Amino acid sequence: MQVYKAIARLNWPRTYVGKLVLVCFSAVMAPLGLLLVACMATDRVNAQALVAFAALAGVAGTMLALVLMHQMLAPMRATWDALEMYIQHGRLPDLPTSYPDEAGRLMAQVQHTIRALDIASKELRRLASLDPLTALHNRRWLIQRGQDEVVRARRENRPLSAILMDLDHFKTINDLHGHGAGDAALIAVAEVMRNALRPYDLLARLGGEEFCLVMPDTDIVVASAVAERLRRAIAEQTIPQVPGSGITASLGVVTLSADDGGFLAFIGRADAMLYGAKRTGRNRVMVAA
Ligand code: GH3
Ligand code: MG
Ligand code: MG
Repeated sequence: MQVYKAIARLNWPRTYVGKLVLVCFSAVMAPLGLLLVACMATDRVNAQALVAFAALAGVAGTMLALVLMHQMLAPMRATWDALEMYIQHGRLPDLPTSYPDEAGRLMAQVQHTIRALDIASKELRRLASLDPLTALHNRRWLIQRGQDEVVRARRENRPLSAILMDLDHFKTINDLHGHGAGDAALIAVAEVMRNALRPYDLLARLGGEEFCLVMPDTDIVVASAVAERLRRAIAEQTIPQVPGSGITASLGVVTLSADDGGFLAFIGRADAMLYGAKRTGRNRVMVAA
């Protein structure tokens, strides 16, 4: 890029094509000019030698033009490299943005476009992992991260527990107080769960009125206590939009076992516990044996 930058600093010619023409013309003419000077300095010029030197000067000028053209195309190669590095490795480019000719504008455009694209795609990825109502993470995110936690717990031989929670008779809340009040209740419950979260726990709204908390490094005793605390906090909370709400939840608690194939099987057992809690009267915690 040094040759391109040096010529760009001259500020003339202003266009990229003009710079290419200047470089080619100068490279071809320089050896011929030297030959001309040499001829003028000599009284008698041998015609055969002159032809041979002229041919050599032509070849040398062409070679020099080739080398300089290769250097002048450095912005194209840098742009191509930047695109390839971003597409294949997600690496952000560092192209110059201050050169006003066509090649300079191409580099600046690619630089700005990739940076903007990267910000937008990160934001999209973030939004795709969130539940828009409660701003908790969603099922897709939990399944990805949960599987990683299963692998880690097994590799490090550490306990991993999960709580699956479903609000009781939530349809009635919607029917009695309206969907807006139901939404407010879901947001309030999400807040209760968020408050129970430790930095390394995973929390998600799986859908509807169902939430899941995955707790690394947590055995069944601690997980059961957390579930009981959550159950009580939900039953005790007041939600202005749902007067005398009496919202309760049923919870299933499990700890990862060797028999759980993967995260979905693990959560499947929590789901079985949750439905056990529903069957036996709701507003309770059922812990896997
Ligand atoms: P159970 O105790 O057996 O869980 O009964 P339930 O009424 O809670 O369960 P059911 O599956 O019959 O109904 C769940 C209700 O949750 C139905 C649906 O309208 C409501 N729901 C699901 N998603 C949302 C939401 O985003 N906002 C609101 N307001 N309601 C929702
Ligand atoms: Mg329910
Ligand atoms: Mg449900």
